[in-house]
Amino acid sequence: MQLKIALAGNPNAGKTTLFNQFTGARQHVGNYPGITVDHKEGCLLHKKRKITITDLPGTYSMTAYSEEELVARDYLVNEKPDVVIDIVDSSNLERNLYLTCQFLELGVPLVIALNMIDVAKDRGIEIKVAKLEQLLGVPVIPIIARSGFGKEDLLEAAIHTASTSNNGDTTLDISYGKDLDSALPELISLISKNNLMTDTYPARYTAIKYLENDEQILKKGQQSDPGIAKQLEAIVDKLADHTRKTLDVYPEAIIADQRYGYIKSIIRQGVETHQFDTDRLYTSDKIDKVLTNRLVGPVIMLLIIFGLYQFTFSWSELPITWLESFFGWLGGIVENTLPDGLLKSMIISGIIDGVGGILGFVPLIMLMFFGIAILEDSGYLARVAFMMDRIFRFFGLHGSSVMPFVVSGGIAGGCAVPGVMATRTLRSPKERMATLLTVPFMNCGAKLPVLALLIGAFFAESKALYMFLFTMLSWIVALLAAKLLRTTVLRGAPTPFVMELPPYRFPTIRGLLIHTWERTYQYIKKAGTVILGISILLWALMTFPGLSDEELTAFQQQRQKTISLFPPETIKELTLPDKDLSDEASSLITQLNEINNLEAETVLRNSFAGRIGGTMEPVSMYAGFDWRTNIALIGGFAAKEVIVSTLGTAYSMGEIDTEESGSLGERLKNDENWNRVVAVAVLVFIMFYAPCFITVICIAKESSWKWAFFSIGFNTFFAFLGAIAIYQIGMFFQLG
Ligand code: GDP
Ligand code: MG
Repeated sequence: MQLKIALAGNPNAGKTTLFNQFTGARQHVGNYPGITVDHKEGCLLHKKRKITITDLPGTYSMTAYSEEELVARDYLVNEKPDVVIDIVDSSNLERNLYLTCQFLELGVPLVIALNMIDVAKDRGIEIKVAKLEQLLGVPVIPIIARSGFGKEDLLEAAIHTASTSNNGDTTLDISYGKDLDSALPELISLISKNNLMTDTYPARYTAIKYLENDEQILKKGQQSDPGIAKQLEAIVDKLADHTRKTLDVYPEAIIADQRYGYIKSIIRQGVETHQFDTDRLYTSDKIDKVLTNRLVGPVIMLLIIFGLYQFTFSWSELPITWLESFFGWLGGIVENTLPDGLLKSMIISGIIDGVGGILGFVPLIMLMFFGIAILEDSGYLARVAFMMDRIFRFFGLHGSSVMPFVVSGGIAGGCAVPGVMATRTLRSPKERMATLLTVPFMNCGAKLPVLALLIGAFFAESKALYMFLFTMLSWIVALLAAKLLRTTVLRGAPTPFVMELPPYRFPTIRGLLIHTWERTYQYIKKAGTVILGISILLWALMTFPGLSDEELTAFQQQRQKTISLFPPETIKELTLPDKDLSDEASSLITQLNEINNLEAETVLRNSFAGRIGGTMEPVSMYAGFDWRTNIALIGGFAAKEVIVSTLGTAYSMGEIDTEESGSLGERLKNDENWNRVVAVAVLVFIMFYAPCFITVICIAKESSWKWAFFSIGFNTFFAFLGAIAIYQIGMFFQLG
């Protein structure tokens, strides 16, 4: 028989780490709260038995306050796993048991994994496992998820519990004080007599949820039996009125207090002993005194980010040139082996110059991800969020908005799609909308090659500095846009926020490598699939309909005329292999190449994409974008990487010779339409214009199409204004 195990627990308790230990999967492990929004499933074979393991989102509670809590709760009651492994951070036992307590009330078959006993030990905390087991009435297994210690015992205990207990037959009945305890029996009997949702929740649990004023349960109650629901609500209202008058609290607050009381009483019975004084500062706190200091903290943060860019750009320089020459070499081979024609053009201009241009940045992407993985796994990223919180509030955003920004590429190289989804942790709809609309401004992994390309070509002397400046710019613009939204269409009061700071941890090499590889692989995979497809499509748009026969003949005649002006010896020289050419011969080659380039450019201009780009040129030139750049920017709406591949294609089609004309960066640098001012204007436009197609769909799904279209229009309009301003001012002062 197949067995279903669910992993549940507080954020950052180690669920994903344990999940990976069990399934060998490379789930994303993060050292900050709220990274798993949907649940993830994996399989494992134990003694010939197939076991499905589900990694649920981390929650502190089982109320209906947030998306995570609902996902976790719905999973437990609807899927009815055979056993739930509750992962508890033993260095933070009291607080973690709050959730445990609610699992016990729900009556799910439970096994407690007492995780991070290594951390607890370091802090001088000792936990009496047998005592805890006895008091809670469920198995407690000490483990270290990171090393895999105890995982076999845990699995055995889980399988044993699954086979012996009946789902929901034993629930923990905590006392909720005189008032509530006396109302409960009436509620419970109403619920169980009428079978109100009894096949999903234990009756007592539903009763407690009514007292807690749980939106989801109230709604479900009304749907399944409006009459009974009304009676229940009336009882609860009367009680709430009473507690308000007598104790000045709502029943839900009493419930929370009583749960904490219950846990405290367990802890007090000698379950936990401390070797050190409790007021002793832990190492993490000591580090935080400096790193999150009001004045020094932000300075260190900026230095760290700058250092990260410095590291990535300088260490990736050499491997990038290797890859560039590799693709140049590959292009050369195709150039020399394939006959001229569409296939050759597609392979060289569409695939090698397009996709190759993106793959050329793999070393940079990899190092960037490695650096970010260190920041993330060590726990530093959570500090970034903590420090940014103060600034965010000022701009009308919320502390929980910081992580979506970082996930979207706040430091570099994320993706707005998970960023948009991460906004689910925000409870206030207006703060959430403001976050959701501004996260696409961050420099996601797809914009990274564009940044690297243009910075590398035009600001080669201080790449890290420019990367840093563009990052700062993305934050400033995002925050200003948020402020603008929050003072106009999304006006509303701020909601309070308490940030969790997980302890610092030494990243493991394995974890870092997995993280780096996962993300790099995503980048490569996207380049080899989606981007490849779009590149070929754009190549076709840039190639067809081609030239008419008359035009082709005209170019052919021009070539012949040029050749006929030279003496026969010179022409013969061209056919001889590998010889130092005479001046005449070189001049002939140059003239022929000019004609070829002109022909290629005419083809491109005349192509479907070229016509669109050209039509837009009169307007786009205000920002310095020529028709070729326009093609790339339109392509970028499909996916931002396409900007690099399209520029690669557009500029390789205009110049036939692959090897001599150098890398795309060099071609841009030598192009008359490009200079530093244009590069900055183009970059600013790319950073802030319409989110890519997939992000737009995601925004629509998370909010509505109205907002999705809003983000396309609003972003493109302001990005264009910004680009015009930069171009006009820059050209006026002749900064190019
Ligand atoms: P989740 O939010 O519950 O999924 O937690 P994660 O699995 O993402 O783990 C959070 C952090 O705790 C990661 O940095 C893990 O490497 C670390 N971690 C997990 N288990 C242990 C453990 O047993 N000991 C130590 N020292 N660290 C752990
Ligand atoms: Mg997780």
